[in-house]
Amino acid sequence: MVKETGYYDILGVKPNSTPEEIKKAYRKLALKFHPDKNPDDPEKFKLISHAYETLSDPKKREIYDKGGEEAIKGGGSNTEFHNPFDIFNMFFGTGGSRKQSSRKVKSVVHQLSVSLEDLYNGTTRKLAVKKNVICSKCDGKGGKQGAVEKCTTCKGTGVQVHIRRLGPGMVQQMQAVCSDCRGEGERIDPKLRCKTCEGKKVLQERKILEVHIDKGMKDGENIKFHGEGDQEPGLEPGDIVIVLDEKRHDIYTRKGIDLLMNMEIPLVEALCGFRKTIKTMDNRTLVITAHPGEVIKDNEIKCIMNEGMPTHRNPFEKGRLIIHFQVKFPETLALDKVKAIEKLLPARPEGMIPDDAEEHDLVEYDPSERNHRGHQDAYMEDDDEGHFGPHGQRVQCANQ
Ligand SMILES: [Zn+2]
Ligand SMILES: [Zn+2]
Repeated sequence: MVKETGYYDILGVKPNSTPEEIKKAYRKLALKFHPDKNPDDPEKFKLISHAYETLSDPKKREIYDKGGEEAIKGGGSNTEFHNPFDIFNMFFGTGGSRKQSSRKVKSVVHQLSVSLEDLYNGTTRKLAVKKNVICSKCDGKGGKQGAVEKCTTCKGTGVQVHIRRLGPGMVQQMQAVCSDCRGEGERIDPKLRCKTCEGKKVLQERKILEVHIDKGMKDGENIKFHGEGDQEPGLEPGDIVIVLDEKRHDIYTRKGIDLLMNMEIPLVEALCGFRKTIKTMDNRTLVITAHPGEVIKDNEIKCIMNEGMPTHRNPFEKGRLIIHFQVKFPETLALDKVKAIEKLLPARPEGMIPDDAEEHDLVEYDPSERNHRGHQDAYMEDDDEGHFGPHGQRVQCANQ
């Protein structure tokens, strides 16, 4: 049990989320609420960053789970949050090398939603992006020769200092971005201003990027377009970074290079064998067989080698296709059938029932109902979800 869920709520995840789920949630929200895209709510970006910084670090997450936000901020943990932009740049690899970063326009990150089929088969996607390019009419100068002059209001500093008199002998100095040049320290003579860019030096351009998605690429993987981002006079053009966002698939779940699927089979097939088909994501049909005499148990896990996801840059090497069987039992059985089946099944074990044994009825189990004797632990619902038992039991592989 966690003390509070605030940070989990900010990221929109459950307190029992895996590190991958937390990463994915941060990625989506950080891109959505980055002040470049959402300038109205910079606080939100900061909160998302703090939540991620805490929950992505196993030690900090443990402290938070036990003591909540108070423990993270105050307490002995000595936690100081990093700058949200540093966290962002570290996450997306957009920081650039430290030497260059000041000489280079910052990168722009876009998210691209892709299906599992796209990642399995590889594809090319077109993405329209907007970017600033240097105005070719004025070569990024903003006007004709001699048009640019130092701003007289701020004397080229970009900052205006206001002095307020609070009382006799008491003044308050306030700094503000120069309103005449908007902090740029220079102004362009309106008569000589470039008409194409209106003195802004850059123009917004729409560009179509061709994004090549290789077989086996992963959710969250970055594809970088060097120098294709925004341009600014005197600086190296920025990069465009495309982040892949894998959509949920109806049938397959990806786990590394393995693919997982659930398969429900009726009891008759579990006991007597079957032949079944599976459609692959490149539209082939696989046939799997359980031979008569081989029993598939409920929750049993089997796999097909080499039918999982292709490995990135080595696509002929594939993972496993892991099949998690669920046996669908009949709800009830007619009495005559019970007798017939009993004769066919292995004999039941003989049990001695003492004379003074107490008779009880079995009733439906309701997890939300409290047990009256107070042994709650024994009645706790099993938290382990997913395709495997707690110890990943019974993984057998059939070479195909
Ligand atoms: Zn100025
Ligand atoms: Zn221009």
